[in-house]
Amino acid sequence: MERAALVRSLSCSSRYLCRSCSSFSFSSTISTISTTTKPSSILRNPLLLRRRHSSIRLPLSSSSPLLYFRNRNRNHFSTSRASLVSSPDISGGGEVVKDEVARELGFEKVSEEFITECKSKAVLFRHLKTGAQVMSVSNNDENKVFGIVFRTPPNDSTGIPHILEHSVLCGSRKYPLKEPFVELLKGSLHTFLNAFTYPDRTCYPVASTNTKDFYNLVDVYLDAVFFPKCVDDLQTFQQEGWHYELNHPSEDITYKGVVFNEMKGVYSQPDNILGRAAQQALFPDNTYGVDSGGDPRVIPNLTFEEFKEFHRKYYHPSNSRIWFYGDDDPNERLRILSEYLNMFDASSAPNESKVEPQKLFSKPIRIVETYPAGEGGDLKKHMVCLNWLLADKPLDLETELALGFLNHLLLGTPASPLRKVLLESRLGDAIVGGGLEDELLQPQFSIGMKGVSEDDIHKVEELIMSTLKKLAEEGFDTDAIEASMNTIEFSLRENNTGSFPRGLSLMLQSIGKWIYDMNPLEPLKYEKPLQDLKSKIAKEGSKSVFSPLIEKFILNNPHKVTVQMQPDPEKAARDEETEKQVLQKIKASMTTEDLAELARATHELRLKQETPDPPEALKTVPSLSLQDIPKEPIRVPTEVGDINGVKVLQHDLFTNDVLYTEIVFDMSSLKQELLPLVPLFCQSLLEMGTKDLTFVQLNQLIGRKTGGISVYPFTSSVQGKEDPCSHMIVRGKAMSGRAEDLYDLVNSVLQDVQFTDQQRFKQFVSQSRARMENRLRGSGHGIAAARMDAKLNAAGWMSEKMGGLSYLEFLQTLEKRVDEDWADISSSLEEIRKTVFSKQGCLINITADGKNLANMDKFVSKFVDMLPTSSPIATTNIWNARLPLTNEAIVIPTQVNYVGKATNVYDAGYKLNGSAYVISKYISNTWLWDRVRVSGGAYGGFCDFDTHSGVFSFLSYRDPNLLKTLEVYDGTGDFLRELEIDDDTLTKAIIGTIGDVDAYQLPDAKGYSSMLRYLLGITEEERQRRREEILSTSSKDFKQFIAAMEAVKDKGVVVAVASPEDVEAANKELANFFQVKKAL
Ligand SMILES: [Zn+2]
Repeated sequence: MERAALVRSLSCSSRYLCRSCSSFSFSSTISTISTTTKPSSILRNPLLLRRRHSSIRLPLSSSSPLLYFRNRNRNHFSTSRASLVSSPDISGGGEVVKDEVARELGFEKVSEEFITECKSKAVLFRHLKTGAQVMSVSNNDENKVFGIVFRTPPNDSTGIPHILEHSVLCGSRKYPLKEPFVELLKGSLHTFLNAFTYPDRTCYPVASTNTKDFYNLVDVYLDAVFFPKCVDDLQTFQQEGWHYELNHPSEDITYKGVVFNEMKGVYSQPDNILGRAAQQALFPDNTYGVDSGGDPRVIPNLTFEEFKEFHRKYYHPSNSRIWFYGDDDPNERLRILSEYLNMFDASSAPNESKVEPQKLFSKPIRIVETYPAGEGGDLKKHMVCLNWLLADKPLDLETELALGFLNHLLLGTPASPLRKVLLESRLGDAIVGGGLEDELLQPQFSIGMKGVSEDDIHKVEELIMSTLKKLAEEGFDTDAIEASMNTIEFSLRENNTGSFPRGLSLMLQSIGKWIYDMNPLEPLKYEKPLQDLKSKIAKEGSKSVFSPLIEKFILNNPHKVTVQMQPDPEKAARDEETEKQVLQKIKASMTTEDLAELARATHELRLKQETPDPPEALKTVPSLSLQDIPKEPIRVPTEVGDINGVKVLQHDLFTNDVLYTEIVFDMSSLKQELLPLVPLFCQSLLEMGTKDLTFVQLNQLIGRKTGGISVYPFTSSVQGKEDPCSHMIVRGKAMSGRAEDLYDLVNSVLQDVQFTDQQRFKQFVSQSRARMENRLRGSGHGIAAARMDAKLNAAGWMSEKMGGLSYLEFLQTLEKRVDEDWADISSSLEEIRKTVFSKQGCLINITADGKNLANMDKFVSKFVDMLPTSSPIATTNIWNARLPLTNEAIVIPTQVNYVGKATNVYDAGYKLNGSAYVISKYISNTWLWDRVRVSGGAYGGFCDFDTHSGVFSFLSYRDPNLLKTLEVYDGTGDFLRELEIDDDTLTKAIIGTIGDVDAYQLPDAKGYSSMLRYLLGITEEERQRRREEILSTSSKDFKQFIAAMEAVKDKGVVVAVASPEDVEAANKELANFFQVKKAL
């Protein structure tokens, strides 16, 4: 799993990496180790938006690290519409807007161009009255995208842009309900719906494949940004931003607010603190010197007046950039916009919102920060990061492309020299700093390490500098250049943006320049600069291209900030204490009347939050009708065959000549005690090297010949069965012409890799430990969910051993064992290989164009014939392993909690019906959203139903509460009991669920989902039945679900990842409710 996560995020070919490659920066190629500027967003999908700090509302599946091998996601019932595939084959279609039509609507055409790279026609319009700029991109992609972006540079760290981003989605002129945004989440077919705050801009994107739905979304967003209710409504500001909460005059005052708690969570994570400190020190004189997300210590300084003024000034058409993309009618786009834009006159905002560049320093500086650490005696807890501001103005595209390339060469893969040298030095556990960052006006470069002992800080710095100096002097080797070039080209051409709409990926790249008044189309046109760079390298040699860049931008650049981070075990408690004292002082300064008034206001706010919108208001949000929904899931073409005794699934889909393949091995006979070694085993396969090839050579070979290979475990419960489904999956992709190379390389990886490099293995262990610790702080809900699953079923127990708290505990002791007992570990790795990789129980999945599929047999049969025929150590496990069913609190240094409660509702007698999808989504979007997020002040609260195992879980995210949240969970049955759901609401809930089930998928994802369904025994008949059940969900089904919710209440097991203070208080209140486990 670790490896899978690593490969997906580190290789340029990753599914989740559209932006990096196409924006020429490739900087997100090392996004897992990135710490720099992260935009905030109202929802969270960390896989797609790693660089944005944000929060959760999506189902667990999208955020849980376990998801790489747990299979909770609902796509197994999904119907991907075969016709809609957005292959790269999108030719510039669509109509053309005539000049007169544009003029009539109030626009003038500024430019018109066909972009070969994305096969689209791009027309830039200017709104005559306001100067608003509109990019209208037309092609055959049915996944239509709209976005409106404002320049919103803040002057302080009160988080105004971020709070405003949340607040404008809380009701508007035409849609006067509490949260139209949530209504859209509930009842639209959106393929994307979110909002993000960057350090200098705020972005509101939506996407849908259904034209009617798309325009509905656009209208709600336009009304929200231009005419939000929040500017007249103090209570929205209080709810989303901050307010004093006082339930009774005799109690203590506390701070509450969604953004306030979101940012407290951010400021509990050392990597985030480091990134923020670095950015602020690099840009002391401009807007990047403050935190647009908001510093929890500063947020309470923000007044409602300032908030309103910020909206008035910056949320104006003159200060906006608007993007349309897809196969809809471009005339209609302008018509919709004209209704809004024509209501405004030009403003001076564009001048006021200009981002001033930071002047370069004449000499380097150094800063020291502290972060909240656990009390553990480990001294290796320091962090150090070197950061450079590369230029005092934006760079030209050619230089930026070359820097992106250089960044990939230095850090892009485990074999990249800078990354390799740092990790091999053993001076620290893992790398921090994201390498090149070019999303802001001026590009930066950051690199450092964490898990460093205080004495070694200078050694890390010296090593970084000496390695860069050496690389500037000696250059990179030819194979490395070729591997990077192939990786980058492959991913540009594949343009695989995963579940992220392609049009949105293009928009974000374009905005990166457009927002600074540069040419918005230039970032999309990579072909020529790429060819120029290639021929320059061919003619002059790579050294003459890259050495001057290293010298100029890094070695001889005085604008350098060294950030050193010290662990402070008392910091979390001290911050809490400081906050308490401030609040006590405030309370002391209040009169009895003030306090009574505050208690009244608190009550009033809660009452408002808990009162449902009136039906008339709800009706204003446009929705589709059930007639608009296809009745059948459209199948992914799947042919099941057999090649030399191995099952082969083939999916004939248009992939633009790319071959996607998975080779799946049965893992069920693996000895249980070997499970925690599996993730490290997977990493070793790709990063240890073979008899003939060093790991660097092996990596370069993979980079040169393929689009990437990854290996990871996958486990899931299977509905109706005791035994879990557990597999090891090897995923690979390449151009079809390289099929033989791909299968040969996979074969080498599986059979020739030698588990002999003790030192490298030790690095894997410490990197994994650092990553798990980070996950515990940043995604504690995933850890809590895994822990609950481990108590409830065997698949969960296995997953937890390979990615939960048990895994972290295993890693914490493994480092020592590697020194003392390497021979034993090495032979265990060998044993895993012998047990798992066998022709027996192997399955091969292939997704490619029909003509290429036809040629695949010979390569596959050669590959299959090379596999060992039987596993010598086949033991049959009895999978009854579970963790004890006790309530647990996993204690970490944090200011916010993650609270979970779960049980197996099948055991309680619930029988799966498709309506469960509708009902659990409804519970998340109403009851939990209102109580856990809106009035509870957590960043997120949701439930997740794993239909394979029957485990129903409640989870909260960055939650200020603990026991109170459990009360909300326990109230779900009563909520359903009192619920009177009308037809409109029900229809919306059904449509929203279909939107999830029909999640938009690129061809590789379709082939992959189809394979998972095959492994889990989900038939087409079952998919059809579930869909019918979803479509016919009635209020009776909601009532029948009450028993399941009561089962969670009565029998549920609780796991929380929480602060020591909150756990202590909870155990006082409910005598020893939690068994306490210290984790950090
Ligand atoms: Zn947010």
